[in-house]
Amino acid sequence: MAMDMPTWCGACDERTRRFNLGDLERRCPDCHPYWAFGHHSIDPSRAPAGRAEQEQATRWLVYELVSLRTLPMTELRRRTSAFFDCGWTPQDIVHALDFDPDGSAFRSVPSTSDPPELTRRAVLNMLSSWCDEGGKPLASPTQLAAARRRKTRSRQQATRSVLAEIDARQVNPDGAVVSGAREVARKAAARAKQLKLEGRQRESSALCAALAEQQAQESKVQQALRRLDKAKFGVVASSGPAEQTQAGHLGTPRSNQAAA
Ligand SMILES: [Zn+2]
Repeated sequence: MAMDMPTWCGACDERTRRFNLGDLERRCPDCHPYWAFGHHSIDPSRAPAGRAEQEQATRWLVYELVSLRTLPMTELRRRTSAFFDCGWTPQDIVHALDFDPDGSAFRSVPSTSDPPELTRRAVLNMLSSWCDEGGKPLASPTQLAAARRRKTRSRQQATRSVLAEIDARQVNPDGAVVSGAREVARKAAARAKQLKLEGRQRESSALCAALAEQQAQESKVQQALRRLDKAKFGVVASSGPAEQTQAGHLGTPRSNQAAA
């Protein structure tokens, strides 16, 4: 672990620099790196200004990203200083180590078990993907977000001013007469009434036709039934027992089949 530790106070756990209080652990206020190196004073969303603050921010990065601890501090400091000089925040560096500028997640992420050389090259790769051809850092994610916000604001402002300009126009009380709007509206209303009437007439005539069709169908059925009744009664009246004979005839083949 490349991260240097403060001198041990002798009271806490030397390895973890914490007090074990049964269910919970507490960072030692005297020799835990979080307090001793002032990580609590770092605001990750603020760009560190000046050499000392940048140094502090780099320490914070090593503290937060355990996988970077195989790197020597000077190496990471050298890699990040150009970014900090361009107004990058520690949070931006964390983002740049996780994502490409196009937003895709990075292909390989350094791990604590990697040899220092591999981590060094991985970090170099990740950070250089956030540089232009000349090796100069691109706008940081925070700066990009700020630019987007500014653009949105100015667009909203433009919309607001246009609306205010429309709002401020004088209303002409005779405008409707001048433009003939009332006449147009009257004509439209009359046309709508006319269309509605036509529609109703069409509907009722269709209904009448359907009704007539249905009646014709019914009378046809009635006639057919009457004819059928006449024929049936005619047969029944002429030969009452003939029906039984017929039934017997019908029954015969069936019994024959059963016998066969
Ligand atoms: Zn301690």
